[in-house]
Amino acid sequence: MKHPISYLYNTVFIPKKSLQICIVGGGFGGLFTALYLSNYTRLIKSLRLRIILIDQKEYFLFTPLLYELLTQEVESCEITPTFENLFANTAVEFCHDTVEVVDLDQRQIKLRSHKQITYDHLVLAVGQQTRLDAIFGVTDYAYAFRSLADAERLMQKLESLETDSEKYIQVAVVGAGGNGVELACKLANRLQNRGQVYLIDRRQKILRDFSFACQKAAHRALIACGVKLDLGTQIKNITANQITLSKNQQTYTLAVDLIIWTIGTQNWEWLDNLNCQQNPQKKLLVRPTLQLLDYPEVFAVGDIAAILHPDKQKVPATAQAALQQARTAASNLRASLTGKPLKVFCYHHLGEMMTLGINAGIVFCCGICLEGAIAYTIRRWACVLRLPTFSHRLRVCRHLFNSALRKLWVI
Ligand SMILES: Cc1cc2nc3c(=O)[nH]c(=O)nc-3n(C[C@H](O)[C@H](O)[C@H](O)COP(=O)(O)OP(=O)(O)OC[C@H]3O[C@@H](n4cnc5c(N)ncnc54)[C@H](O)[C@@H]3O)c2cc1C
Repeated sequence: MKHPISYLYNTVFIPKKSLQICIVGGGFGGLFTALYLSNYTRLIKSLRLRIILIDQKEYFLFTPLLYELLTQEVESCEITPTFENLFANTAVEFCHDTVEVVDLDQRQIKLRSHKQITYDHLVLAVGQQTRLDAIFGVTDYAYAFRSLADAERLMQKLESLETDSEKYIQVAVVGAGGNGVELACKLANRLQNRGQVYLIDRRQKILRDFSFACQKAAHRALIACGVKLDLGTQIKNITANQITLSKNQQTYTLAVDLIIWTIGTQNWEWLDNLNCQQNPQKKLLVRPTLQLLDYPEVFAVGDIAAILHPDKQKVPATAQAALQQARTAASNLRASLTGKPLKVFCYHHLGEMMTLGINAGIVFCCGICLEGAIAYTIRRWACVLRLPTFSHRLRVCRHLFNSALRKLWVI
């Protein structure tokens, strides 16, 4: 029999108590799932939904513009809007805490503050961390570049090296993926003739997951910035001021002042105890609808999810993919709450954009490749448009406009 109240509310059943959706992690996957969900105002009211987002940080980090901090092309407030501001005037509640345990069977989350939260639906979106234990010395001496804290630590180190005006600063960036290439160009631009940046990778090719056009353009940009490429080179070990390398069966050392490690990711330790199926890389296995295999009320999105797609579609660990998953997760949560069929997630590759130094970049989309200042400007504005909320976008636009005016004033 239909619930009597459902007739009053156009077939939506009103539960006695409110339903709780918890989202763990406020990065690209988690934050955008929350924002998409908050648009379903009728559903939130009729089902008395509580949407709670838990994050260990108080702000969202827009990682694609993290490199620009090193060259002062952006200020940290532009890329780290607080959750408090982002969720103002929305139905999303923010809980500033660190999740330590999730009991999938009891539907319970245990927080570092010893609080416990129960949920009806859960979205796991905690991303991954840089793996620093692959080679001897990395944990002790290398710098990671993934969080705002990493960027600030790196800037402090650079500033302390730069105080000695006589010093020639040698920097090794390990890993020639997107992260390593963008970082190497920015660092080379920052140091100019005050130092040398080396980009080291065991493969012969840079940017192996990118298009050929991007690889070629990035190669040209690295050379133009003065970065020395050390490809096909194995790293043996790392000490405070030295990196031991091996190439063509010859071992040699490189004296360096700073080593930045950009390769390898791993899960947060607490996810190892999660009672669900994981792939060999420890990513959480999800159905094409983004639900955990044995827990349909739990969704996983972003870098931690491995989708068991029937056509084996490869989904990259990028912000672009996490954003698309967030849209599907929100829509599927609504579908499961209203008894409608769930959608299958399908990744659409929209193109590639990179920053390759100050005022230089590459945009590759629909077979068209743009380079240099024009690509840099397009990327910058694409990033502004992709910032999470309209009010934050407006704030950043105002900031960009004011700094452009200040520059004109100086000229
Ligand atoms: C420097 C850099 C540049 C990048 N540039 C690009 C780019 O140009 N384009 C692109 O597509 N991708 C880019 N990426 C990749 C992109 O940032 C990631 O793929 C994307 O952020 C993944 O989203 P996510 O939601 O899975 O995780 P994240 O965005 O990493 O978010 C995870 C969130 O979970 C929180 N969290 C973790 N553990 C806990 C816990 N125990 N309790 C509470 N909260 C927790 C974290 O604080 C964080 O806010 C870049 C990455 C980096 C590091």
